[in-house]
This record gives sequence, C-alpha cells and structure tokens, in this order.
Amino acid sequence: MRVARVARARGVLDRVARASRCARARDASASARSSASTDARLERAPAASPASPRFRFEVLRASTRSNARAGMIHTPRGTIATPGYVAVGTNAAMKAVRGDALRRAGIDLMFANTYHLMLQPGAATVEAMGGIHAFMGRRGPVITDSGGFQVFSLGTPDRSANAKGKTKELKSRKATKHRRENLLIDVSEEGATFRSYRDGTKMTLTPESSVLSQKQIGADIIIPLDELPPYDIDRETLEESVHRSHRWMTRSLETHLKDVRQQAMYGVVHGGVDRELRRMSVEYLSALPFDGLAIGGSLGRDAAELGALLEFLMPLLPKHLPNHLLGIADMENIEHAVANGVDTFDSCYPTQVARHGTLFTRSRGRINFRRAEFRTSTEPACEECECTLCTKHTLGYLHHLDRANEPLAWSLASEHNLYHMGDKMRRVREGILNGEI
Ligand SMILES: [Zn+2]
Repeated sequence: MRVARVARARGVLDRVARASRCARARDASASARSSASTDARLERAPAASPASPRFRFEVLRASTRSNARAGMIHTPRGTIATPGYVAVGTNAAMKAVRGDALRRAGIDLMFANTYHLMLQPGAATVEAMGGIHAFMGRRGPVITDSGGFQVFSLGTPDRSANAKGKTKELKSRKATKHRRENLLIDVSEEGATFRSYRDGTKMTLTPESSVLSQKQIGADIIIPLDELPPYDIDRETLEESVHRSHRWMTRSLETHLKDVRQQAMYGVVHGGVDRELRRMSVEYLSALPFDGLAIGGSLGRDAAELGALLEFLMPLLPKHLPNHLLGIADMENIEHAVANGVDTFDSCYPTQVARHGTLFTRSRGRINFRRAEFRTSTEPACEECECTLCTKHTLGYLHHLDRANEPLAWSLASEHNLYHMGDKMRRVREGILNGEI
C-alpha cells in the first residue's frame, strides 16, 4: 500500500515538474511575444487534473442567460454550495459571533488568516490542539490564505489606499491595522522577511513555510504565497511580480503534493488589470494540478474596473475547477461577480460594517441602526430574516445596546448580516437553478 502511495506521489510530482517546465516555457514565451499575436502563438494548455483525491467540484447548472453557474464543492468536511459567500474568521473566530451561527446562516465555508494564526497562537499550537476544526469546534470546511496579504501590508506604508498620490483600490491594504511602522524587511526570491507586530521577532515567510503552516493549521483549502503588487506600478515591474508569484506557487504546489493529506490547493491568478498578464497567469496555473483557482492581485480602482476585468477573465478559467474571488463581497460587486461565473468570494465587510452600525435588509436596503429615528423603533430589523435579532428584538433595543456600548449589539448585528448574506446567496443559487439569473 505504502509503496503504491509513494509511487503515486512520485508520479504526481513528476507531472508537476513536467507541467511546471512546460508552463515556465510558455510563461517566458508569453512575456517575449507581442500582445497582438498572443492567441495565435500560444498553445492552449491542457487542463491539469486536480491533485486532491477527496476534493471535487460539480456544476449543477450553467446559466444560459449569463456566465453564472450553480454548483457544489465536495470536501472531506462537507459540501460548499456555490455561488457562496465565505465568512472571514481571522483568528479562528467570527468577531463577536459564535461559530455555529455560520451553519444556521447557511454559510458553508469559513476563511481564516494564516498570518494572524502564525503569530498567535502559532501554527504548531493549532496543530497540537488537533487542527483548526478541533481547536474552534467547527465541523465545516475552512480555507486559509498564505499570510502574504498581511505581510506585504506591513511594508511601505505609502502603499496605503489613502496615501497621497496613490490610487484608491477596491481591495486596499489597510486591512492590517498594525502597519504603524515599516515591518516588512525584505522581499527576495526566497520569500518575504518581516518583523512580528507583536514582539518584533524577525520572521521569514516562504512558499514552503506558508504551505507547512497551513498544513499545521489544518485548512481544507490552502492558498499559496504570492506577491501583492499595488495598483500603481509600471508594466515591467508587474510582469516580474507575476512571474515571481508563479515561481512561488509552483514551489508551494511541490511542497503540498509531497503530503497532500485531505487538503486542496488553489492557485492564484495575477496580473492586476493588465489583460495579457492575466491571460498568461491563467495559462500558467491551468497547466498545474491545482484543485481550484483564486483571483488575486489588484482588482482595480472601482466596481466598473473590477467588472470589466471579470468579464474578460472569467471565460478564460478552466470550467472544471472551482474559483474564488479574494477579498470582495460588497453587494454591488457580488451580483456582477456571480453573473460572470464567480463561485465563492470572501470579505470581512458584512460583519465589519455591522459592528459600525450598518445592517443589510431585504426590504429597506442598508440601514444605520445608530440613527436617532430608530431610538424608539418597535420594528424588527428585517421581517423576512430568521436571525436572533430579527426574531427576538426590536431595532430600538439594538439602538440602545449600541449606545450603551453593550457587546451584544455587535453580536446581534454581525449575526444578522451573516444571515442576510447566507439568505441572499441561497436565493441567487435558486435563481440560477431556476434559469432566472
Ligand atoms: Zn436578521
């Protein structure tokens, strides 16, 4: 048995090496050629089969009205209905909300941040506690990122979305609140070296160490380390960055395939808003046996630019793999993303705005429960919602809790917005299955 497993693993690794050599050659030729001859000279890469034996994507219905599709991602820890919102539980916890709220809200997948878990309590500690599922008492699947987004956010504070002269981006790097000083020391071919914001310890994040940390954490879906260039860089630097991310992701995949366990790995498509680079990135990653593809890097300045990018990019992705849009989940972008064929997407936005007074509702749109008009409101936040807030409490009570700085206000509001997201996506899936979207 063991011999057969080792032989199989060697076979897959050989295949990665071959596919990777082939992809590198295409990568090099892609960067050398002119954009006009892109399609003619580029052979379409044969789509590689996913590596994880326990991970499977099933398309239930592909819309004929749009590029939307409804499907199921089967994982060893349960099924993820798509299109689906992925809730963000940075520190292996939903802020102010118990983990079981996700199941009740109909949200199948949770996103946790490797960077935060590496620093506290440490990936080895999570492993010693039985992995993230046992640690936090969660049965359903978990996806983790590489830690790269936060590490790159630690450096060059002038990358900030609001920095003078810099273009504001959809997915800004203000996500890391610890960027008071420049903690990113160096980025080299090996990886990124930075100081811990907690105690100043020098640490290096490499493609290999990121994968090993995610294996220790026990994520069901692993995201490989990539470089995260800002929107405002020249074409040449962006292209070099895409190539480096490709090399890092190949190393990540090689590390993953030596010990797959029951985990899956998604490649991350890069290239900013440059169409040729995005196309090249899809070609490169499609030749490798990733279990899915994420859409990362800079996604543009606004919804219009993201929309245009998705319209171009989504038809290029292999249809047999699930895809994930990293870090975008506001209402305007969700509808466009779904219509373009996005399967899953994550963002802390729904719970973050809930803690600051915003509720999403079906009949009234967004409301701010901090407004004086709700002080004596005896209405529920949302008639159609089945969350604790809407079934047990009034808006006036929520308004009071918030004014009194009671943490229950943040719990109730966050849980409600999670229910809203779960309900919205359930209706979107029904719409696709019924041929309405
Ligand atoms: Zn509710």
